[in-house]
Amino acid sequence: MNITIKSPLDMHLHLRDGDMLKVVAPLSAKSFAGAVIMPNLVPPVDTKEAVVSYKNRIEEAIGDSNFKTYMTLFFKPTYTKEFLESVRDDITAIKLYPAGITTNSEGGVSGFEIDDLRETLNAMSELNIPLCIHGETNGFVMDREAEFVPVYEKLASNFPNLKIIMEHITTKESVEALDKFENLYATITLHHLIITLDDVAGGMLEPHLFCKPIAKRPEDREALLKVALEAHPKVMFGSDSAPHPQDAKESSHCSAGVFTSPIAIERLAQLFEDNNAPIENLQKFLSDNAQAIYNINPISKEVILEKRDFIVPSSYGDVVPMYADDKILYSITDIK
Ligand SMILES: [Zn+2]
Repeated sequence: MNITIKSPLDMHLHLRDGDMLKVVAPLSAKSFAGAVIMPNLVPPVDTKEAVVSYKNRIEEAIGDSNFKTYMTLFFKPTYTKEFLESVRDDITAIKLYPAGITTNSEGGVSGFEIDDLRETLNAMSELNIPLCIHGETNGFVMDREAEFVPVYEKLASNFPNLKIIMEHITTKESVEALDKFENLYATITLHHLIITLDDVAGGMLEPHLFCKPIAKRPEDREALLKVALEAHPKVMFGSDSAPHPQDAKESSHCSAGVFTSPIAIERLAQLFEDNNAPIENLQKFLSDNAQAIYNINPISKEVILEKRDFIVPSSYGDVVPMYADDKILYSITDIK
């Protein structure tokens, strides 16, 4: 049976820069209609000039592909309304990283005192700029996200007109928070719908499945799967596809990140089929919910999948994807 997905969107994507950008950007641009591009470069994307020049470098890397880049700015609590007005047309959202919590986040936020954030978050509310958050504390690795949920709730209740996206959620606590606050939304990755910590470290260590936030318990995965498969209107797909060179992953200091963008749509089709979920829900999870949440109108692109084995390459450039040398049961056979 063929499946057609209209304008699939990846609402959380790392494209990096330089040579890596040239390898990975065309892979996303091929099958997705657009993506929210994360700003954690060195130095971070935190000025209008940096946003515009990064967007240009991405567009150069993808050539004439039919793909929209939804740019983000690296959050700083010093942004004024005047500055945000000047950059409003160049960005789709602003991404907040707690300091030092993931790749290139050293310049992030270290306290979450409402008074320190008020001016910037009020301005974002007024200008209708969503705030994307990597929600983890500096606590014990398995508890970091659940410990951060009260921060999400504090921000959501203090800034009721601010759209807050809980990025790449991995726990049942985050899923539960979705229904408590009207202005909380979430992205969910492919890998967190499939793996638990057991797959990363339960047997031989699997560096290509090591990521932040780390995969959690089976009951967490079940909670994520439930809202993804039913296409809960407040959740959307964000791959958090995060490429690193093979030698940075297969290393005594393994970098965090799973590279999924070239296999994500195919593997999601298989996942929805495995769980007998309606294909309309896959369409919502991969595009329609994000359009409604972000109020965006993506370019038109139809991705046609067939139930035919897709043998995943062992690498793309020097990046090893999830399911390298393995088989996925759906292939993309046409893109219009
Ligand atoms: Zn990310």
